[in-house]
Amino acid sequence: MKRWVVLVHGGAGEINNLTPERERNCRQWLRKAVEEAASVLSVGGRSLDAVVAAVRILEDSGAFNAGRGSVRNRDGLVEMDAAVMDGASRCAGAVAAVSSLRNPVLAARLVAERSPHVLLVADGAEAFAFAHGADHVSPEYFCTPPFSNAEDTIGAVALDIYGNLAAATSTGGMARKLPGRVGDSPLIGAGTYADNRSCAVSTTGIGEYFIRTVAAYSVHARLLWAQLSLEQAARNVLEEVSSLGGSGGLIAVDAEGNSVALCTSPAMYRAIGTSDGHILTAIFRDEPWRAD
Ligand code: ASP
Repeated sequence: MKRWVVLVHGGAGEINNLTPERERNCRQWLRKAVEEAASVLSVGGRSLDAVVAAVRILEDSGAFNAGRGSVRNRDGLVEMDAAVMDGASRCAGAVAAVSSLRNPVLAARLVAERSPHVLLVADGAEAFAFAHGADHVSPEYFCTPPFSNAEDTIGAVALDIYGNLAAATSTGGMARKLPGRVGDSPLIGAGTYADNRSCAVSTTGIGEYFIRTVAAYSVHARLLWAQLSLEQAARNVLEEVSSLGGSGGLIAVDAEGNSVALCTSPAMYRAIGTSDGHILTAIFRDEPWRAD
């Protein structure tokens, strides 16, 4: 059987007050998201379906800053961003500043597959998604307290048995952001990128720095044009983010099935699943993958 790989992240940051209970809960959700993607990939499903399935689980979990668990902006409202990209066709879709969609990642996929556009924002994005059957939620659906500081975007990247790469990212953005602020996650090339010739990437961290360094595309470009390894390329790009004063992390997988999950912040929630049957998680920066 040909090899497949999936990685998910649940955001990078300081991660203060990580109680044993929250740690257990987060690892369980990350594992569940990988299991969901693995159930697609292990039966010959496509990487795009796998990353969307994984991100949807985490959006619904309420445990991370995306979907139900999205943080609030300065005015106490939720404004979410999400993107998907298919490395085979380089077809991409994204939504930004949406407030009443249950699963922004599904709306992003609808934009990719059912519209001639790549990025739709705010009311227009919601109207389009609802017209195509997306689920609506009211403000009470979101479970984060108004002034939560959690900053744990979610994302997934995968390689399927056909050699196709895909990436998806979804977030509530930065806590207390100005209304209307859009981060890196829904910007193709900044927070999300996939190309079968190189790699699939999903980033997390202070989005403004990942926009200014065009981070996800920069990992791809270093592979394609400078022939760096995935790990060298990812380290290089995170160094560039740091050199501007930013911090965060990224997950990526290349066309050969090599993978990285790196962060410059003290922690990044992450998990990996592979065709050899392993599902592993890690949270702290230098923590090795754990099987429990
Ligand atoms: N990158 C996201 C944003 O800036 C936030 C995060 O990853 O925590 O919107």
